[in-house]
Amino acid sequence: MSAPRPAQLGGPARLHRHEPAECSPRAPPPRPSPSPSVPGSVDTDGLQQARTIFVLAFFMIWNFVLSNIFVGLIASAFEAIRDDHNTITSDRLSKCLICSQDMYLFNEKIEGGFDEHILRQHNALHYVFFLHHLRATALEEYTGAESIVSTVLDNAKTTTDKGTWLPVSKSLAIMHATAASASKEGGSGAQ
Ligand SMILES: [Zn+2]
Repeated sequence: MSAPRPAQLGGPARLHRHEPAECSPRAPPPRPSPSPSVPGSVDTDGLQQARTIFVLAFFMIWNFVLSNIFVGLIASAFEAIRDDHNTITSDRLSKCLICSQDMYLFNEKIEGGFDEHILRQHNALHYVFFLHHLRATALEEYTGAESIVSTVLDNAKTTTDKGTWLPVSKSLAIMHATAASASKEGGSGAQ
């Protein structure tokens, strides 16, 4: 007759066998439960297969098409904003705010150049003061030029119409310089 094995004795040996795994020092950490939205494998179930194909197609379309489209749209929007800012900055530095003529034209034709023009001839603040003067003066006290400007401003329907009284592409300094050079050339040609 053989001696009974320890497992067959029951009692303490059986209790050791049924200890919970988390109490053992060598027990592996609990595995995270799989995400319910992403299937782990293709099942034989038709609905599960369709779901897997749909999820894979979604990720492929998102990664290769939609995300690139969104990134392109955002990049082009920022590029347009940067271009507008650069254009405004360039215009502010190289063109007269009142007559919109280029800086090189004044530097070439009038004494004092562009700085003289935007400080004395077409100073934007002078035009602001003029508009304030129109508001602060009674209609009966307007001069002829003030009456014309006031009429234009009152009848303007759009913002563009309000600027029609400004000397766009016109400057007395340029006109005088052009006339002076033409008369000089004419006088030298006559001699
Ligand atoms: Zn000007």
